[in-house]
Amino acid sequence: MVEKVIPIRLDEGKGLTPSIPGQLLAASTSTKDTRGRPLRDLRISVTDRCNFRCTYCMPKEIFDKDYPYLSHNELLSFEEITRLTTIFASLGVEKIRLTGGEPLLRKNLEVLIEMLAKIRTAADQPLDLTLTTNGSILRKKAAALKAVGLHRLTISLDGLNDDIFKKMNDVDFPVTDVLDGIAAAQEAGFTNLKVNMVVKKGTNDQEIIGMAKHFKGSGVTLRFIEFMDVGSSNGWDMSQVLPSQEVANRIHAVFPIEPIEANYPGEVAQRWRYLDGSGEIGFISSVTQTFCHECTRARISTDGQLYLCLFANEGFDFKTLLRSGRSDLEIANAIMSTWSGRNDHYSEIRGSNTAAVNTRKVEMSYIGG
Ligand code: SAM
Ligand code: SF4
Ligand code: SF4
Repeated sequence: MVEKVIPIRLDEGKGLTPSIPGQLLAASTSTKDTRGRPLRDLRISVTDRCNFRCTYCMPKEIFDKDYPYLSHNELLSFEEITRLTTIFASLGVEKIRLTGGEPLLRKNLEVLIEMLAKIRTAADQPLDLTLTTNGSILRKKAAALKAVGLHRLTISLDGLNDDIFKKMNDVDFPVTDVLDGIAAAQEAGFTNLKVNMVVKKGTNDQEIIGMAKHFKGSGVTLRFIEFMDVGSSNGWDMSQVLPSQEVANRIHAVFPIEPIEANYPGEVAQRWRYLDGSGEIGFISSVTQTFCHECTRARISTDGQLYLCLFANEGFDFKTLLRSGRSDLEIANAIMSTWSGRNDHYSEIRGSNTAAVNTRKVEMSYIGG
């Protein structure tokens, strides 16, 4: 487990009039971190449990039956998540992604989504509410997720060949069930679906062309993710990373593609389109083409810690704040105070700062990617 620290400077709200979150700290919506980056996105991990044991995320040698998963009381409740999200929204956050572990394993998740769907941004717009799932129980859940107001879905799938996919998920889970989950999401009315494929060189890179062919022209955007050194248990080393440029080259040789403009500043995936007009693909290249300079994302772990970087080794304990009678204004100030001190840029120093790289980092299943 990572060490936890309490946020700092809770008295910063002095002189401000406590109010409802929507009116809080209008000036803070433009607060930037030490590198000039505003806070715009929030990822919330709703469970640390998963029914997969992807070797790059929750290797089964470590995440076994004796692993100390969090008890129900240690998780943020739906009310706590909603309160925190409301405060984040008042501070400029526009996009929320629910993740995990496997978020669809959190009991009654639809109830939480319904609560979150009612929150408005500081500009009085609905939040962009999204979720990332391994797709394993999406067939059962898709219609209910749509009905309660989830806007968008990303499904992870690392190959179409069962033997290779099973090597990645490590629990013998078949490809067909995930594809069926994707079909269920489409039937439920989700559009602009995204599929994430983590590429591990030598393990599933032979699936790249097959995946591209399968999703080309389907309206689903396939995104290739470089295998990252998240956490401290996935045995990462550079030799297993296939640079996105090489993935793009392989696809281009079969299906010609060209890069296109980002949808918005700070978009994590680089977009490319098929020259024959049959859609687009994306690349998330955290290792070989870093994007820290425009990283506007914070993360709330399953147990209510605020993390300012995917590769952080410590979080800020907002669960304690939420459970200690603090006002919304105090919590808002703690968030902005924490954000304004942020200096994280791990991916930019991965190659040069051995101390940072070797420090124990938070596990992916706590903060959800
Ligand atoms: N269980 C859900 C899923 O797999 O979609 C949500 C949580 S998962 C941690 C979120 C995303 O992180 C997935 O797309 C997964 O493939 C990606 N991911 C996990 N470990 C990774 C790693 N070491 N490198 C790159 N991506 C990783
Ligand atoms: Fe589970 Fe998602 Fe991690 Fe795979 S990547 S082990 S599905 S949390
Ligand atoms: Fe953001 Fe940290 Fe990733 Fe850089 S390494 S893009 S700061 S999460």
